Amino acid sequence: NAALERAQSLIRTIPDYPEAGVLFRDITPLLADAAAHRAVIDSMIEPFAGEFDVVAGVEARGFLLAGAIAVAANVGLVPIRKAGKLPRPAAAVSYTLEYGTATIEAHDDMKPGARVLLVDDVLATGGTLVAAHELVSKLGGTVVATSVLMELEALGGRAVVGDVHSVFTA
Ligand code: IMP
Repeated sequence: NAALERAQSLIRTIPDYPEAGVLFRDITPLLADAAAHRAVIDSMIEPFAGEFDVVAGVEARGFLLAGAIAVAANVGLVPIRKAGKLPRPAAAVSYTLEYGTATIEAHDDMKPGARVLLVDDVLATGGTLVAAHELVSKLGGTVVATSVLMELEALGGRAVVGDVHSVFTA
């Protein structure tokens, strides 16, 4: 698929960001290209078309993808936010980062039993998506699939998250 190959070539790799030793995958050049953007959105949806009622995206880059997926797949969107950003969080999950902890929250805007496609830009160690799974469960939804734009295989996220659809691997 030429559009996907082009999309992959538009992911920019930035050494030593946000700290020394980290290779940061920057998807903004890909988002800036209409055909590449469309191709990755279609690819994130395609294996699960018709199987989900809601897309849940993780702040902040996951929002960009989830918004496009919601419109393309004609489903609702529930944002998963960092702690303290939502006025009425109905559930929260804390998880461990390399240094310290983080908390994610969401509103109670999911129907009980909603079939949820969970979305983020990058799968690294998997901690974020494991926490997001737990958060969706607390809200009464069921994660039917997890879709990411890029999986960083060496960080082993797949082993903790379980089945993940990744458009690109590195
Ligand atoms: P994990 O919890 O270790 O899997 O990290 C995944 C989270 O960190 C996701 O929300 C990503 O947005 C972010 N992240 C980790 N590495 C990168 C990267 O190289 N580029 C962009 N985001 C990243």
